[in-house]
Amino acid sequence: MGSTYESALNKFGKAADLMNLDPGIRKILEHPKRQLIVEFPVTMDDDSVEVFTGYRVQHNVALGPAKGGVRYHPNVSLDEVKSLAFWMTFKCAVMGLPYGGAKGGIEIDPKKYSKKELERVSRRFFSEISIIVGPDRDIPAPDVNTTPDIMAWFMDTYSMNVGYSSMGVVTGKPVGLGGSQGRTEATGRGVSEVTALAAKAKGMDIKNATVAIEGFGNVGQYAALLLSKEKGAKIVAVSDSKGAVYNPNGFDAEELMKYKVEHGTIADYPKAQSKMSNHDLKTMDVDVFIPAALENSITPEIAKEIKAKIIVEGANGPLAEGADEILNERGVLIVPDILANAGGVTVSYFEWVQDLQSFFWKKTQVNSALEEMMDKAFDETWKTKEKYSTDMRTAAYIVATERVAYATRKRGIYP
Ligand code: NAD
Repeated sequence: MGSTYESALNKFGKAADLMNLDPGIRKILEHPKRQLIVEFPVTMDDDSVEVFTGYRVQHNVALGPAKGGVRYHPNVSLDEVKSLAFWMTFKCAVMGLPYGGAKGGIEIDPKKYSKKELERVSRRFFSEISIIVGPDRDIPAPDVNTTPDIMAWFMDTYSMNVGYSSMGVVTGKPVGLGGSQGRTEATGRGVSEVTALAAKAKGMDIKNATVAIEGFGNVGQYAALLLSKEKGAKIVAVSDSKGAVYNPNGFDAEELMKYKVEHGTIADYPKAQSKMSNHDLKTMDVDVFIPAALENSITPEIAKEIKAKIIVEGANGPLAEGADEILNERGVLIVPDILANAGGVTVSYFEWVQDLQSFFWKKTQVNSALEEMMDKAFDETWKTKEKYSTDMRTAAYIVATERVAYATRKRGIYP
């Protein structure tokens, strides 16, 4: 298997070919603008010293400051961070946000460290990458294993270094410290909204539609909660890294979320009818499958076995190289990551706007503005899909690339 970045380039390449993209702009978009690797020491609670490796990659800034999360995971690598930064450029553009794309990460298993150690790791990392971030340069946010508390440490670290409180330097902060109402559930809300739109487009009734969700973290939990509570869908299976559970009558997502907080996993949830393997969850007979864990979880082999009619990519890059073609051929509607999980960055954008203006919105205002933007982006992508007779992913890349290409042409190439 090639690198994740190569696979990301292939998906973009299909759109670039179809829209006959100018070769110069294509070359620009195939390369990240800036890649920073930092190796930094941190004192542990027992006074020993560990050295961590972290990354910040800015893929493109044609449309505005770079934007993207920071991930804490042992498998973080430059290839992964580059790919995630690349997707952010197109995600922001497909949503019509005035941002470029970036991503960051630390090679770390946060579960192995105390809260105080994680605070020191976070502060030192942010200090190291401060040479390229800032509210008008690059605005980090949460991703896998990074929380509002970590965003508060990031914001404070940057503020201490510049000498004043800089709320707009990161998003995903706690409400009450420059955070936005509705940010925590924003990605799940966006996933829920586009799932309902995709069902409608497929002539499927979302009410009582069966849904399986891989990954029960921030995205998976709120997608489950809002799809069941607001759209009437039935969440029949969920998984996390420890295992999967099944209930044909549909889970109560709120209860399941409480259980996950108390027990750290849903694998032994007593109200499940049965346990199942993570593999069986991906291939079970449901209307909608939402991968919301990590990249490359659906290999071409698994794609051949998938029975869902719609796949909504809550995670970034969950379909490994080769899986798209198999699923497209089999008529499965794929709502691509750059559109499906863009609710998070959209409310991050609202948070940044609120911070810059020091004027905060009500939750209802945030939610309705988000839904309006998701609906518009879905509609534009759907129309582009029809115009080019292509799949949703290629269409979303075309919509996004047209915007980045326009900005690049208008700005010109310096000098
Ligand atoms: P998270 O850390 O809150 O949750 C990840 C979940 O996936 C956990 O429940 C974990 O147990 C589970 N998981 C890990 N490996 C698994 C496996 N092999 N099988 C089943 N489950 C597994 O992370 P998150 O914030 O929910 O992010 C999930 C995905 O969504 C990532 O790809 C992330 O980049 C993407 N995403 C997140 C946001 C956001 O706002 N949080 C926004 C856009 C995209």
